[in-house]
Amino acid sequence: MSNKPGTLYVVATPIGNLEDMSPRAVRVLSEADLIAAEDTRHSGTLLRHFGIGRPVVAVHEHNEREMLHQLLARLGEGQSIALISDAGTPLVSDPGFSLVHAARLADIPVVPVPGPCAAIAALSVSGLPSDRFVFEGFPPAKTAARRARFENLRTEPRTLIFYESAHRIAESLDDMASVFGRDRPSMLAREITKQFETLHDAPLGELADWVRTDANQQRGEMVVLVQGLPLAAGREVDAAADRTMRVLIGALPLKQAALLAARITGVKKSLLYAHGLRLAGHQPAGEE
Ligand code: SAM
Repeated sequence: MSNKPGTLYVVATPIGNLEDMSPRAVRVLSEADLIAAEDTRHSGTLLRHFGIGRPVVAVHEHNEREMLHQLLARLGEGQSIALISDAGTPLVSDPGFSLVHAARLADIPVVPVPGPCAAIAALSVSGLPSDRFVFEGFPPAKTAARRARFENLRTEPRTLIFYESAHRIAESLDDMASVFGRDRPSMLAREITKQFETLHDAPLGELADWVRTDANQQRGEMVVLVQGLPLAAGREVDAAADRTMRVLIGALPLKQAALLAARITGVKKSLLYAHGLRLAGHQPAGEE
C-alpha cells in the first residue's frame, strides 16, 4: 500500500521507546509530501533515526489555525500530509484538532495510523476497571480550579485517567486524595517505555505520601489513574424498591418488572434487574 493523494494521515509516534514506532508509521511518513509536526526540532530526531527525509512544517497550538488554509490547500491539490506530535497520538492533549476538524468538514479523507498513547498504555497495565473509563487530560494548574474539577468527578463510577506534569504531581495527588478519599485504588504510571519506567499502584493516600516524600517520583512524564466510585450492586435498592420488585416479579417477566419498578421507585433499572436475579436465586453475570 502507498499513501493516497489528498489524504491527511494522523500518525502516532513512540512515547519513549523508539521500538514502538510501527512499520506503517515509518512508511506513511516516508511517503508523505509533507510532515506537519508539533515541534520540528524534536521530531527531527525521530525522523533522522528512521531515515525519513521528507519536508517538515511546524503545526503547534499557537499557529495551527493560521496554518489551516495552507495545509487544506495542499491537501486539495492532492498532496498527502502526515500529522505527528512530539510523542504518542496527536490530538490527545496535543495539537491537531482544528486541522482534523477542518479537513473532515472539507470532505478530505483523514486516516489514522494508530500507535502509542500514554493514557491507554497506563490503563492497560493498571489492573483498574478498563471496560469504561474517562480521559481527563491535564487537571487545571491552579489549586482552586483543580479541586473543583476533582469535586465534579468525585462520584464518577468510571476509571479516571489524568495527565500531570512533574512539578505539580505532588500537590495534585494530595488534592485527589482529599477529594476522592485516601482509600481509592489508584496508580502512578511514570516514564512508560523508558529506562525509569515505574508503575506503582496503591490507595490514593499512600500514593500521594509516597510521591511527596520521594523526589525521584516527581521526575519525568506521568499518568495518574483513579478507580471510579463503585456502584455497589443493589446499594440503592431500598426497602420500598425491594417490595415493589417482589410483587412485580410474581406477575411479570424480570425485564418488565425491573422497568416498571424503576419507573415507580426511581431506582436504576439495571440495579433492580440485578436485584430481581438475586431474588430469583440467580447471580447476575460478573458477580460473585
Ligand atoms: N499525545 C500524547 C499521548 O498520546 O499520550 C500525550 C501528550 S501530552 C502533551 C504529554 C503528557 O502525556 C505527559 O505530561 C504525561 O502526562 C503523558 N505522557 C507522555 N509520555 C509519557 C510516558 N512515557 N510515560 C508517562 N506519561 C507520559
